[in-house]
Amino acid sequence: MMGREVQRVGVIGAGAMGRGIAQVCAAAGCSVQLFDTAKEAVARARDAVGGDLARGVAKGRLSQEDADATLARIQPANELRDMSDCELLVEAIVEKLEVKQQLFRELEATVRPDCILATNTSSLSVTAIAAACEHPGRVAGWHFFNPVPRMRLVEVIQAPRTSAETVEALVELSTRVGHRAIVASDSPGFVVNHAGRAFVTEGLKLLSECVAEHSMLDAILRNCAGFRMGPFELLDLTGLDVSVPVMESIHAQYYGDDRYRPVTLARTRLMAGLLGRKSGQGFYSYG
Ligand code: NAD
Repeated sequence: MMGREVQRVGVIGAGAMGRGIAQVCAAAGCSVQLFDTAKEAVARARDAVGGDLARGVAKGRLSQEDADATLARIQPANELRDMSDCELLVEAIVEKLEVKQQLFRELEATVRPDCILATNTSSLSVTAIAAACEHPGRVAGWHFFNPVPRMRLVEVIQAPRTSAETVEALVELSTRVGHRAIVASDSPGFVVNHAGRAFVTEGLKLLSECVAEHSMLDAILRNCAGFRMGPFELLDLTGLDVSVPVMESIHAQYYGDDRYRPVTLARTRLMAGLLGRKSGQGFYSYG
């Protein structure tokens, strides 16, 4: 696999992240197959990509021809088997270890021997996902940030048995899709979600202790501390259904270390369905 340039990509999970990964790969010229267990999700994802590309055309960032060609390179896959000729399969499905392990086991039975299997997990152990596979050398983390076309950083996560060729191919493709790749060893939360714990958790603590309103905390961190968005704007963008399991997973993987202890307010709001933008109501309201 040395020096290899991946051209055929399969994306499994057509939600917020999967559709973004499909978009940047297609924009870089790769052919992309998109699969989701919820059939309407793939059509929705293609519509969302089409909408984003149209906004890019309107703003003069790309031509109509390039937008059309990018969208045409994203094709639906009806079954996992349909993606057996891909050189890279990346999953962005639900954040549950057993579900991801089961998916990778199924994929190994159908894919080419040199196909890379990548996970976009935010907080699960890439090592544990790879351990479920017969060939862990081909398994790595490829962790993007939301929204993928605009957040041009990606973490390439090397588990203990991930091969150097797998890492090289992912770094090469990351660069080709216009992202800056950082290579990190597998550890809970990798680099960004580990370092970012303080930002979100301390923000939630300040809110729980009624030190200030969420909008005030966001404004201070955005306008005075130089962050692009405040913790509550970020939580609403990500969705508590994604971020609460991330907080709990990192805390558990560090054996309950108090530094990573989640704030109960986040789980309470998750249970109440106040997920953020995706449910129309989070810390802010979305009409
Ligand atoms: P999402 O809920 O928007 O999308 C997940 C999609 O996966 C859904 O369309 C669902 O139908 C599909 N799915 C679920 N189980 C499946 C299966 N077994 N096979 C095929 N499709 C399946 O979620 P998301 O926000 O896109 O997150 C996906 C992954 O990316 C998670 O692992 C998450 O931790 C990670 N991630 C999320 C963010 C973020 O900010 N949202 C950032 C980085 C990484």
